[in-house]
Amino acid sequence: MKKAAIGVGSNQGDSVRICLEVFNLLRNHPAVSIFRASSLYRTSPVGEQEQDWFINAAVVVQTRLEPLALLELMLDVEKSFGRVRTKKWGPRTLDLDILFYENIQLDLPGLKVPHPLMSERLFVLKPLAEIEPDWVHPVLGLSVYEMLNRLVEFDHQQQIQKLEK
Ligand code: ADP
Ligand code: MG
Repeated sequence: MKKAAIGVGSNQGDSVRICLEVFNLLRNHPAVSIFRASSLYRTSPVGEQEQDWFINAAVVVQTRLEPLALLELMLDVEKSFGRVRTKKWGPRTLDLDILFYENIQLDLPGLKVPHPLMSERLFVLKPLAEIEPDWVHPVLGLSVYEMLNRLVEFDHQQQIQKLEK
């Protein structure tokens, strides 16, 4: 079994329910099992500002799927929650990104691992730091905890609030 970190986000529909259903789906999937899930967070939109706040979370899974097969599953799950791809960084019912896969680096047209923008996104690092602070980025050589500390030092725009369970 291989270990991967997945970023979960939604800002359309009942986002809290959608994220919790994704946790369940991944828990019950034959080829994936959730190892740990973060709390849910409310986060300010990045990129396209004129949209609702997001609900974000991170999960760490164990899987027998190779990276491309895992991506395919994530895109299928996005679709099953009704995601229609509109503009880049626009509103979405569900976004599932592969953040890390073991300590692998991949630069394929349809799959970049680690996720290229993860070190700049508070909505990725904060939830991931809750469950996996010591996972070291294979390119940057920094742990999740270190990336988070760097980001909060120079970025004061992105806002995040942990949701009470
Ligand atoms: P974003 O998540 O950056 O806002 P999208 O969810 O619309 O953008 O992603 C579009 C495409 O990004 C997907 O079809 C997928 O092929 C590609 N992609 C590349 N690397 C990854 C990754 N690590 N995780 C998920 N998708 C990725
Ligand atoms: Mg995505």
